[in-house]
Amino acid sequence: MNSAEIMALTEEHVMKTYNRQPLALVRGAGCRVWDAEGKSYLDFVGGIAVAAVGHCHPRVVAAVQEQASQLIHTSNLFYTEPQARLAERLAALTGLDRVFFCNSGTEAVEAAIKLARRFASAVRGEEGRRTIISAMNSFHGRTLGALTATGQEKYHHGFEPLPAGFAYVPYNDSEALARAVDETVAAVILEPVQGEGGVIPATPEYLQAARQITRERGTLLIFDEVQTGLGRTGFWFACERAGIRPDILTLAKGLGGGVPIGVMVASAEAAQGFGPGNHASTFGGNPLACRAALAVLDVMEDEHLVEAAARHGDQFLGLLKGLVSKHHLKEARGAGLMLGLDLGRPGAPDVVGLARERGLLINATGPQTLRLLPPLVATATEIAEGVRILDEALSVWQTTV
Ligand SMILES: *Cc1c(COP(=O)(O)O)cnc(C)c1O
Repeated sequence: MNSAEIMALTEEHVMKTYNRQPLALVRGAGCRVWDAEGKSYLDFVGGIAVAAVGHCHPRVVAAVQEQASQLIHTSNLFYTEPQARLAERLAALTGLDRVFFCNSGTEAVEAAIKLARRFASAVRGEEGRRTIISAMNSFHGRTLGALTATGQEKYHHGFEPLPAGFAYVPYNDSEALARAVDETVAAVILEPVQGEGGVIPATPEYLQAARQITRERGTLLIFDEVQTGLGRTGFWFACERAGIRPDILTLAKGLGGGVPIGVMVASAEAAQGFGPGNHASTFGGNPLACRAALAVLDVMEDEHLVEAAARHGDQFLGLLKGLVSKHHLKEARGAGLMLGLDLGRPGAPDVVGLARERGLLINATGPQTLRLLPPLVATATEIAEGVRILDEALSVWQTTV
């Protein structure tokens, strides 16, 4: 099928929940993808932070091929070696103790909400601790619990009544958090860098204050690192920048190299909240997804991608700051290879289109903010190429407004 046919068939039969860019992709390798007509693009969307090790990394492909020919799925009625090995690896990497496997970011957040509430009532005997506090402008997913934790009105609209027991505080405001956390609060959930909200980093001091406040008041701290985790910000986990560890960590996006997988990792103490029958997933932690994730972690370690994200992130942010002054934009910000470019005025979707026409894929998180999430394997040359195309796109955009 050609691109036009693929797009037309999709528009006819797939629910209209997405604003898609007019591009049908058929192949990917490293930082590049190809459309159905063979045109190549530098991919700085990276499947929304999923292609951390790049598209179709040979080691991930080999692991998936081998596992697919051996055993794809068993359910959690039985044990498998890939799940056991991945749980061990994730516990060691996070410094936490126990893992629950699911299939997406929103499911990892749901699991975290359920664990926090059940920990309060079943382990601590504090039936009154039900509330989940999250930040305004946050994003935690689309299922009803995670959606309600998402502190953005626009995502809630039309889905009421939403589940009870959620409250919101302004982000990066330690005093507001201190005022909000009382004996009715089961957990505080935060993104160390707000992603969908426009690439807004928390200050280390805020994350440290959240750690201290929750510990003092007997409340669990959840970091939603679905987007920031696994090297994206130049640390294995973004909370390391603040030198702290949460009680519960959620991961997904980059973990499976494109194969759907989500994880909630918890301290041994918090993990007591779940016993047999309390939570489950048919697909969660299936051998195919776990083998893919093990290969991703091997690549990350062997190719030193966390260090690369830190190094190339600094380079990229420097170049973006150059574009800010050249084109009189508002701000470039971010952490590692999770970067945002705030234009200071609406037009982000136009710049996305202009960049695409010139062979660069990026996305807009709002009317005036561009988000750049290149694969962590991006070279200095590829980053420079992306910035050159973005520079051109911004120049054309300037002449049209
Ligand atoms: C993307 C994202 C989610 C939701 O992940 P899905 O896999 O789309 O369900 C949750 N939290 C954060 C921080 C995210 O960036």
